[in-house]
Amino acid sequence: MLTIGCHLSSSKGYLAMGKEAVNINANTFQFFTRNPRGGNAKELNPADINAFLTYAEEHNICKILAHAPYTLNACAADAHLRDFARRTMEDDLRRMEFTPGNCYNFHPGSHVKQGAETGIAYIADMLNQILKPEQHTTVLLETMSGKGSEVGRSFEELREILDRVSLSEHMGVCLDTCHVWDGGYDIVSHLDEVLHEFDQVIGLQRLKAVHLNDSLNPLGSHKDRHAKIGEGQIGKEALIRIINHPALRDLPFYLETPNDLDGYAAEISLLRENYQKERL
Ligand code: FE
Ligand code: FE
Ligand code: ZN
Repeated sequence: MLTIGCHLSSSKGYLAMGKEAVNINANTFQFFTRNPRGGNAKELNPADINAFLTYAEEHNICKILAHAPYTLNACAADAHLRDFARRTMEDDLRRMEFTPGNCYNFHPGSHVKQGAETGIAYIADMLNQILKPEQHTTVLLETMSGKGSEVGRSFEELREILDRVSLSEHMGVCLDTCHVWDGGYDIVSHLDEVLHEFDQVIGLQRLKAVHLNDSLNPLGSHKDRHAKIGEGQIGKEALIRIINHPALRDLPFYLETPNDLDGYAAEISLLRENYQKERL
């Protein structure tokens, strides 16, 4: 069974997201933990969470993925900004414990002229402060396109962060197809080789989620502009090979394509129709 969903608005709460997912034939979803620009989060509503947990079990919704605000920068040069990122993610992880067993994804950060090494050290430092031995959430580093001074533009940079985190059993990676393509990994013509490289550098056991997006731009463009499935430079055939690849097919896939709910429903049904029942 293909586990697939899309990014949903969290403004109406968890149960509303669960119902929205079921309506578009999704069995998972991604959401922002708070306003994507940062800001305060609404306090969690225990009644909503409990209703969602029951609903999720009845409707086989699994492995939901929280996404940190994308403006957080754990490796900013300004100590106040780093501290803001740390406090926000720490609070997000506390909240994630109400829906245990899921993943929390974040963009590693932008080192802005400090150099990737300094950025990597700050990011690992933050993770070493916020991860707790007893937590039930896996924190994911997202593969980035390498726009500007983004850290995480290569598998090696992610590996370097993971190497410096003490509680690394709570860490994983989310592979964004648009970002790795823009980052120069040819998942269209050399998917096996790219996954082999991921395995050699990071280890496929660390891969916990896939952001399934087409890209407006060519391989290695370092741009990060998502396109609808089949309307970009990766293309429908390559994305269908990705959801069926033996190393990927059991992972949860999340669409972050520029769509409204009807558009997401159409992409989900297209992908479900093209998902092989049996591992080839
Ligand atoms: Fe992201
Ligand atoms: Fe993404
Ligand atoms: Zn992106």
